[in-house]
Order: sequence, then structure tokens, then C-alpha cells
Amino acid sequence: MNTRVVVIGAGASGLFAAGFLAQRGASVLVLEKTQRTAGKVRISGKGRCNLTNAVSVRDFPQNYKTNGRFLYSALHRFSNKDCIRFFENRGLRLKIERGQRVFPCSNDANQIADALENFARENGARILFGEKVFKIQIGAKNRIEGVFSFNGAGSNFFPAESVIVATGGMSYPGTGSSGDGYKLARDLGHKIIEPRPALVPLRTEEKWVRELAGLSLKNVELKLTDHRNQNMVLFGELMFTHFGLTGPIVLTASEQVGLWLRETKMPVSAAIDLKPALNEQQLDQRVLRDLQKYSRKHFLNSLGDLLPRKLIPVIISLSTIPGDKPCHQITKKERSLLVRLLKRLPLTIIDTLPLASAIVTAGGVELSEIDPRRMESKLKRGLFFVGEVLDIHGVTGGFNLQAAFSTGYCAAHSVELETEG
Ligand SMILES: Cc1cc2nc3c(=O)[nH]c(=O)nc-3n(C[C@H](O)[C@H](O)[C@H](O)COP(=O)(O)OP(=O)(O)OC[C@H]3O[C@@H](n4cnc5c(N)ncnc54)[C@H](O)[C@@H]3O)c2cc1C
Repeated sequence: MNTRVVVIGAGASGLFAAGFLAQRGASVLVLEKTQRTAGKVRISGKGRCNLTNAVSVRDFPQNYKTNGRFLYSALHRFSNKDCIRFFENRGLRLKIERGQRVFPCSNDANQIADALENFARENGARILFGEKVFKIQIGAKNRIEGVFSFNGAGSNFFPAESVIVATGGMSYPGTGSSGDGYKLARDLGHKIIEPRPALVPLRTEEKWVRELAGLSLKNVELKLTDHRNQNMVLFGELMFTHFGLTGPIVLTASEQVGLWLRETKMPVSAAIDLKPALNEQQLDQRVLRDLQKYSRKHFLNSLGDLLPRKLIPVIISLSTIPGDKPCHQITKKERSLLVRLLKRLPLTIIDTLPLASAIVTAGGVELSEIDPRRMESKLKRGLFFVGEVLDIHGVTGGFNLQAAFSTGYCAAHSVELETEG
């Protein structure tokens, strides 16, 4: 009889593990609580799915905050290059964008999700939908016996010699990942590092951000300072929303900002340098040139060469220089106020958005209890954890999906199959 393996969750890591395990000859059953596969993959990368990153394999682990070392082995067993090859061999055309981000040429995340589902099915894995696993059954000699699930009509028992928990984190719970894996792990004696939002937008006190909602600024510098004067500076792209800030550099900073907010219980100051390539003197000269160019016009009409149109009314209002003041009447003092504002547009960060709105969950199954070469529990043989349910999270750029693929691959090749003796 083939070894029976239940994979809990048909997301990125679960489908990947299921496909490779079935390829090895296991009898694989994937239990998925929603009615479709890979709900989160389908909305990833704004619907385009940034599936991995093309940086060198050597530089990969440093993109996983504190826990990159745990992933070292998995990332070498199944690297970003392997990932690219995997999807290309399945007929998908991929492209590399800014920041070495890898996307499907079709810009359609469904293509990646469907490829994962087809890979699992073609190798013989079965997928059952609407089955929410609530218990992993352990029998005599501390061996896995199977899982219990609930499907609306009642509960079912599915026997298995091994179980792979691929339930994801607890952000965007509408996709199905709502933290069930933490309970399953805790019930079997695993420690859970408290889940918290990572890669999450930030809420500001200032309401003027609303007027800028949707405006994206590239090549700006964002300085964040907490109440104890600890600070960080990031360079790149950010976006205004109706509640505050988001975009790559904001998401990257968000976990640290969340920590500062919790530790100090005080807001975090933000300052956006809209023109980081120019120092104050150079920017002053630039503003002066524009004011001279438009000397007969109102101040309101002089900033179009320097700033995006949407930003102009906000800057005018914050500068306190009347918008209808003729440019030739603007004083040196007013000009220096304006320059300071452009170099340090001030905002007050009062909160992160909740975990449900985060791109990934920080925290999860404590890694010291997992074998990093196998993804197997050190507490229960035959029990594996893969993907975001683990206490692993990467920065933006395709690192989280690569972690799901690499850990899924590792587990799939570590489950002991009976035929192997
Ligand atoms: C908006 C958004 C955009 C993102 N964009 C990117 C991106 O571009 N690049 C990137 O690398 N990462 C991105 N991520 C993160 C990435 O999608 C996740 O890290 C990744 O999908 C995690 O894979 P996983 O297999 O661990 O979990 P998931 O993909 O979340 O899958 C978990 C599955 O388990 C199922 N499940 C949960 N509990 C149970 C249960 N009790 N019984 C049965 N089934 C269960 C769920 O329904 C779900 O199908 C994004 C995330 C979000 C929210």
C-alpha cells in the first residue's frame, strides 16, 4: 500500500508539496477548506503574482528578516532558479522586473495558481474542497493516524501516515488562511510565536493624505523616527491611501514601525524627502528658477515642473503661502519654508493596519522545533509544516512565495515512503 499523506491547505506550499509527493509515489490527499485552490496566490502581486526574485541564491536568505538562516537549506534544495525553471518547464513565460521581481509575462496570477493545481493533480494528488481540518489524530507510539475535518454536513476522518500542515498565516482571512494551523500545531505541543502583521500599510494622523489617495511617488526617501529617536531611512516607492501610506518602502518598514508603536505607545514621525537627489541649496536654486520662469503667474501655477499635479494643492496648503500670490512676490523666507517642506514632508504614524490587512504574518510555528532540512516536527514524527504557518516572513519582492515553494519541496522529499523501506 502506498504511504498515505494528507496535506492541509491547497495554497502555494500545499499544492507544491502535494505534487512532488505524488510524483514520488505517495497517495496524497489535499484537504482545502474553501471551494478553490490557492486563493492567496490569485490575488498576490496585485493580481500579477510576483512568484520569486532573481537575486543570486547566496543573497536570498538575508531577505527573511531574522529567520533567513532557517531557510538556508530549503533555499538551496529548491532555489529561485529551480522555481523559475519549474514554471517555465510547465509552459509559462516569465519576466524579470525592477528589483529582480519575477512575474508571469501574462501578468495573471491565476496562471501560476492553475499551474500549481494542475501540477498536483497531474501527478495524482486528490483535492477535496470544503474540508476544514480541526484535529490531527495521534495514536499509539506517538504516530500520526490521520486528520479530522468538518465539511458542513458533519465531520470526517482521513487516515494518513504523514501530515503536512500548509494552512498559511492569518492575513487576508477571506482567502482561507485564518490561523487554523497555529491551533493544530499548539494542540500537538508546538510553541507559536505570537502572530503579528508584517508588510502592512500604515495609518497616519493627518487627514490630508485622503486627497492624495492613489498617488504613487517613485524615488523618494522616507525617514521614520520613533519617540526614543531610533530611526530608519528607506529609498524607493511609496503610495498614499485614504488612511495613510503604503507601497514597497512603507511595507518594508512596517514591521519595525509596528514594534516601535507597541514598545513606546507613542506615534512614529515620518518625513518624506520628495527630492532626495538634490540638497537643500540645490533644491532652493531649482525652486527659484521655476518661480522666475513663472514670475507673472500665481504661486499655485508654478509647481507643475517639480511636483505631480495631485500633490500641488496639498503642498500649497501646508506651506501656508497663498496659492494666488504672484510668484515674483514670494520672499526668500517663504521659499526656504517651501524647500524644507519638499525635503521633509511631515506625517505622524499612529498605527499599522490590522493583521487581516497585512501581506504576510510574522510569527507562527517556532522554528527551533522544526528540522530545517526536512520541515519535519522535532516533536512528532511524520508531521511537517510548510509555508507561512512557520515563523518565517520575507520582504516584498517574491520572497514569501519562494519560501512557500522551497519549504513545500523540502517536506515533499523528506516524507518517508513505505516503498523506500
Ligand atoms: C494581497 C497579498 C499579496 C501578496 N503578494 C505576494 C507576492 O506578490 N509575492 C510573494 O512572494 N508573496 C505575496 N504574498 C504572500 C504570499 O501569497 C503568501 O506568503 C503565500 O501564499 C503563503 O503560502 P502558504 O501555502 O503558506 O499559505 P496560503 O497560500 O495562504 O494557503 C493556505 C491554504 O490553507 C487553507 N486552509 C487554512 N486552514 C485550513 C484548514 N483548517 N483546513 C483546510 N484548509 C485550510 C486555506 O484556505 C488556503 O487555501 C501576498 C499576500 C497577500 C495577502
